[in-house]
Amino acid sequence: MSPEALIQSLSSITESVFGTSSPFSSTEFDEHVMTTYARYPIALERGTGCRVWDTEGREYLDFVAGIATCTLGHAHPAMIQAVTEQIKTLHHVSNLYYVPVQGELAKWLVEHSCADHVFFCNSGAEANEGAIKLARKYAHTVLNIDDPVIITAHASFHGRTLATITATGQPKYQKGFSPLMPGFYYVPYNDINALETAISELDSRDRRVAAILLEALQGEGGVNPGDQAYFQRIRQLCDEKGILLILDEVQVGMARSGKLWGYENLGIEPDIFTSAKGLGGGIPIGATLCKSSCNIFQPGDHASTFGGNPFACAVSLAVCQTLERENLLENVHDRGEQLRAGLRAIAEKYPDHIKTVRGWGLINGMELHAESPLISSEVIKVAMDNGLLLVPAGPKVIRFVPPLIVTEAEINWALDAVERSLASF
Ligand SMILES: *Cc1c(COP(=O)(O)O)cnc(C)c1O
Repeated sequence: MSPEALIQSLSSITESVFGTSSPFSSTEFDEHVMTTYARYPIALERGTGCRVWDTEGREYLDFVAGIATCTLGHAHPAMIQAVTEQIKTLHHVSNLYYVPVQGELAKWLVEHSCADHVFFCNSGAEANEGAIKLARKYAHTVLNIDDPVIITAHASFHGRTLATITATGQPKYQKGFSPLMPGFYYVPYNDINALETAISELDSRDRRVAAILLEALQGEGGVNPGDQAYFQRIRQLCDEKGILLILDEVQVGMARSGKLWGYENLGIEPDIFTSAKGLGGGIPIGATLCKSSCNIFQPGDHASTFGGNPFACAVSLAVCQTLERENLLENVHDRGEQLRAGLRAIAEKYPDHIKTVRGWGLINGMELHAESPLISSEVIKVAMDNGLLLVPAGPKVIRFVPPLIVTEAEINWALDAVERSLASF
């Protein structure tokens, strides 16, 4: 009996013994939970590997992975073991005391990246807040800038706190929340002339640039990979002018791009970078990482009650070690090539609808033509009916971010579901 069939038969036994529990009611849910999300009308109940089941017992192949977060998929033995052992031992004590496993995780991250030091928090937005605070303090104490500016890109995404929606170069996330944070300036992504012009223009107005904050690949903004030459020129500019280069690796980091960190695809090293989504495999954890040269926080400068607690760090360390042990970078590379080749073959069959397929490793986007009447969320709804979970990256891009353990057969199954979904329009 397959694991899927086994779970199915076990749940029907449970139901016959205990009776069906009260069915999921979205009306009751919406009555009590703030309406910040436009949700799909299903509730997921359990998962294993890249498969999840809803409360009606329907099975889906999960190419969302909690939005590029469930690195090892669902119910991975390494995570189950780490979660179970740590919750039985010690889960939270605060940073009033040393947390040895926080040190072990920091050591792993430092040994596997260009960074020398790590601060732990709980989410991507918070990791970016930490980076912004670090850059501002560096500006005041090292660069002697009183009114520092941080340059970010159009179509970027850096989170939903006030500083990070300000950093996010998309007005739709900022609307209704003014006054925004001062000290940000926006440029088009992958456009070096625009960036150089912005820096000198700001200079001439006596507003000095302290940092440039970018994604190595823009995730939410439409799966736009960074251009190597662009980032290499930025690195040069930053070195010449003493500007900090901060990379937001929240979505693309932790092996999703086919390299452990997105910046490895660009042939440069940032001064500061941030991680979150895939870092804990679905357990909340974020990190701000930096080189020794900008490791200037003093006791009291920054803090988090939950940040780096034994539970989150033990699970994250297990995720990191499993990435290495199972050689998942190789799987990400191979499955990514397979997925892009398959999506490109589908794109050729639907040239009126599909404009292009792009991405790195297992973060890929299929862009619909501006002229096509199709929008990503409609295609995604049909794919869901066909048993495949996908997530949009804007109205015209369908994003594919499966767990990094995805198999060859699962990629083929997903490609077939995409093709069936497009055929129905
Ligand atoms: C998701 C995301 C964030 C925000 O992370 P949260 O954990 O939701 O706060 C920031 N930056 C990028 C690039 C992201 O993809």
